[in-house]
Amino acid sequence: MIAAAGETAGEMAGETAVIGLGASGRSVAALLAREGQRVYASDSGATAGLVQAAEELRALGVAVDTGRHDLSRIGRARTAVVSPGVPPTAAPVQAARAAAVPVVSEVEVALAYLPGLRYVAITGTNGKSTTTALVAHLFGALGYDAIAAGNIGLPLAEIALRPTPPQWVALELSSFQLHDTPSLDPAVGVLTNLSPDHLDRYASAASYYADKGRLYANAGDRSIWVDNADDAAASALAAGARGRHVRFSLVGGAADAAYDAERATLMLEGTPLLARSELPLLGDHNVANALAAALAVTRADAAHETPAMRSRIAAGLRSMRALPHRLEVVGEFGGVIWIDDSKATNVSSALVAIRGMTRPTVVLLGGRHKGEPYTALAEPLARVGKRVIAYGEAAPLIERDLGGLVPLERLGSSFEAVMARAHALVGPGDAVLLSPACSSFDMFRNYAERGSTFARLAAGG
Ligand code: ADP
Repeated sequence: MIAAAGETAGEMAGETAVIGLGASGRSVAALLAREGQRVYASDSGATAGLVQAAEELRALGVAVDTGRHDLSRIGRARTAVVSPGVPPTAAPVQAARAAAVPVVSEVEVALAYLPGLRYVAITGTNGKSTTTALVAHLFGALGYDAIAAGNIGLPLAEIALRPTPPQWVALELSSFQLHDTPSLDPAVGVLTNLSPDHLDRYASAASYYADKGRLYANAGDRSIWVDNADDAAASALAAGARGRHVRFSLVGGAADAAYDAERATLMLEGTPLLARSELPLLGDHNVANALAAALAVTRADAAHETPAMRSRIAAGLRSMRALPHRLEVVGEFGGVIWIDDSKATNVSSALVAIRGMTRPTVVLLGGRHKGEPYTALAEPLARVGKRVIAYGEAAPLIERDLGGLVPLERLGSSFEAVMARAHALVGPGDAVLLSPACSSFDMFRNYAERGSTFARLAAGG
C-alpha cells in the first residue's frame, strides 16, 4: 500500500490523501512529501493554526484544503491516511472506503520509512500512556537513545522525518490506530488491560476488543508478548498469538513480574526488583504499569537480563515521575498534598485513583457527565474521602448517586469557589485529589487546562 523504497514520484500512480491535519496528519504529509510522493491533505476546520499548517505544507509541495475535503479527489487517491481523531463515519473516510481506497494510519506509513526500527508496542484500555512513558524511560536508564511516540503525543512520522532514528521506540497505539496498521510487528507487544470503552465509536465491546487484538496480527515465533495475568479478557485475547508470552500480576506470585504484597515489593522473575515505597508513582494500577514496563524492557533483548541491567531498570523505576495530570503530585503546602488526576475523565479511572489514596482526602468530582453512574466510587470514598466536593454540570447527578453514602457537598461551576472550599476543609496530613470522573468541557477547554488551573489554585495562585 505504501510506496516501496526507491519508488520515485514519476513512477507513482496517483496521490496519497491525508485526512485530518492534526499533529499526526501534518507529520505524515510532510514525510510523504519528503519521500517524493504526491499528497493531498485536507481538514474540515479552518482555524488560524490549520491555515498556518497548510501554508507550511504547501511550501513542501503538498496540495492542501482547509475548511473542506474534496471527496472525489479522495476517492481517486491510491491510499488514504486517516488521523485517529477522525471518526469512521466522517464523509472523507466514507468517500475513501466507498471508492475502495485503502485506508491506513499515520503509524503504518511511518513504519514503512523506518525499516528495522526496534520498538515496543503498547495498547490496552487504561494505562497506555503511563506504560509507554515508563518503557521509554527504562530504555533510557539502560543507556539507549529511546523515545515515546504514537498516541502519547509525538507522531511516529515525526521520528521518521529525523535524520537518525532512535535506538528504541515505545509506541503507544489506540484501538483506532491498530485498526489501520496492518504492518505492526513489534519486538515486544504489551496489552495493559481491557474493559469496554469507546462505545460511542464501536458497535460492541467485541469489535473494540477485536481492534485491540490486531496487536498480534503479525505474531511469529520470535514475537514476545507481555500479558496481564489478572485480566481475563486481555489474557484471552493474547492467548492465541504465536510467540513467547510473559505475564505480570498484582496478585499471582508465579507471574514473571509480580507484586508481593506481603513484602511490599515488585518482583521480577522471582526475585526482588524494587520496594513499593521506592516507586514514585501513586496507586496500585501504577505498580501494574511498572511491572509491565519492566518486563517488556527486560525481555526486549537478552542482554538486558544481567544483574547490572536489572539494577539499572530498578534505578529507572525510582527516577520515573508521573505524567502530567495523571495522579501528579503538584505540591505540598502546610502538610497537605495536592494531586492532579485531571486525566481521569471516567468513573473507572477515578476509582483506581481514589483506591490508591492513603490519607484523608478531599475529592473533587465533577464536570460534564459522560453517562456512567458514580455509585462505584462510594466504597473507596467511604474509606478515605474526608469530603467530596461535587461541582459543575454533573454535580446534581453525583449528589444523587453518592449523597447519602459519603460526606458530600455540592457547589456550582466556579472552580475558584471549589478550590477555596478545598483549602478551607483540609489540614496537615490530608490530601486533595482532583480525579473528576467527568470531562472538563463544561468549564475548561480540556483536561490539561483543568489540571493546570488546579495546580495554580493549589499553590494559592
Ligand atoms: P491511557 O493512555 O490508556 O488513557 P494513562 O496512562 O494516560 O492511560 O492513564 C489515564 C488514567 O487511567 C490514570 O489517571 C488512571 O486513573 C487510569 N489508569 C492508569 N493505568 C491504569 C491501569 N493499569 N489500570 C487501570 N486504570 C489505570
